[in-house]
Amino acid sequence: MKNFDMALPNSVEEAAELLPKKIGDDSARLMAGGQDLLAEMKEYLVQPDLVVNLKSIPDLDRVVWGSDGSLELGALTTLATLENDERMAAQFPALVQAAASVASAQIRSSATVGGNLNQRPRCWYFRSEDYVCLKKGGTECFSYYGNNRYNAILGGGPSYIVHPSDLAPALVALSAEVQLVSPRGERTMSLEEFFVLPSEGDVLRETRIAADEIMTRIRIPAPAPGQRSVYVKFKERDSYDFALAAVALVLQTDGTKLESCRLVLGAVAPVPWRCTRTERKLAGRPLGEELAALAAQDALADAEPLSDNEYKIPLTRGLITEAFEALGAL
Ligand SMILES: Cc1cc2nc3c(=O)[nH]c(=O)nc-3n(C[C@H](O)[C@H](O)[C@H](O)COP(=O)(O)OP(=O)(O)OC[C@H]3O[C@@H](n4cnc5c(N)ncnc54)[C@H](O)[C@@H]3O)c2cc1C
Repeated sequence: MKNFDMALPNSVEEAAELLPKKIGDDSARLMAGGQDLLAEMKEYLVQPDLVVNLKSIPDLDRVVWGSDGSLELGALTTLATLENDERMAAQFPALVQAAASVASAQIRSSATVGGNLNQRPRCWYFRSEDYVCLKKGGTECFSYYGNNRYNAILGGGPSYIVHPSDLAPALVALSAEVQLVSPRGERTMSLEEFFVLPSEGDVLRETRIAADEIMTRIRIPAPAPGQRSVYVKFKERDSYDFALAAVALVLQTDGTKLESCRLVLGAVAPVPWRCTRTERKLAGRPLGEELAALAAQDALADAEPLSDNEYKIPLTRGLITEAFEALGAL
């Protein structure tokens, strides 16, 4: 790892001023819990001269409940805080289940919400210093012809990474918004809009955050009356591991039929994959096995597996059925 200086700013504004102005200039990088950034630095994916440590900024880990039942998480809120909060577990089960599914207890005690949403892909070609893949400025996504069992089956091309975050699908399903602050001021966007497909943006990046922007808050609207939510994840190992596939489902029913739902898939696409067409098809249909079967069928209808990851189609379909069952909608 290259030697670096560490800045301990007192405010978000001070931190933002220390960041580079241009994407691709890695001379300074933000650090929250350091669980991903330090690994990136050890693997020479980034070699900053300056690490801007957000942990010196007061109140960036504040959790605030609105009087309407909405929830605002400071970007430095740790995953352990989410996992251990009974009110969050009652109001937003998908969020707490997603947080509890991440890595190990030790990692969750320092990993933050902002860091989890901004972490970089785990594709081994991207992570290995031996490969200059498309996402590192090369000309090829090696996973397309290479070892692609963990890669994308939806939304892939020209890069076939999957987004590794467990919180992201849960928060997109819960209609979360993020606040971003830079020397130019602040802006808010939906988390769904925050993530960008490689075919739609800069292939080097996974999000719309600017080089000198800092994610400061994540806001989840109050649950609608009767809203239920769940996050289900399948891992290759029983111990801590990233998802091979995951499903976040948020729904409202009137007891006999589905009023509306948000269905978001994790670990199968370069972004948390929202199944908007499927959601529309399901609305208004009676609860039961046919509903879950339609969801499972339609959500994966456009999947285009690579040579070694076709298994993700039946796996994800099974998780969708499990999610409907968990919410009593079978
Ligand atoms: C062994 C292991 C297993 C793991 N398993 C899982 C898993 O199962 N599921 C999962 O979701 N993740 C998993 N992870 C990844 C881990 O959850 C993330 O690395 C962690 O959540 C990152 O949070 P952090 O606060 O440590 O971020 P950092 O490492 O500090 O930062 C990560 C990235 O986000 C940027 N960043 C941080 N905060 C902000 C901010 N506020 N605004 C803008 N940019 C910011 C940093 O510049 C950096 O690029 C695993 C990691 C390890 C090491």
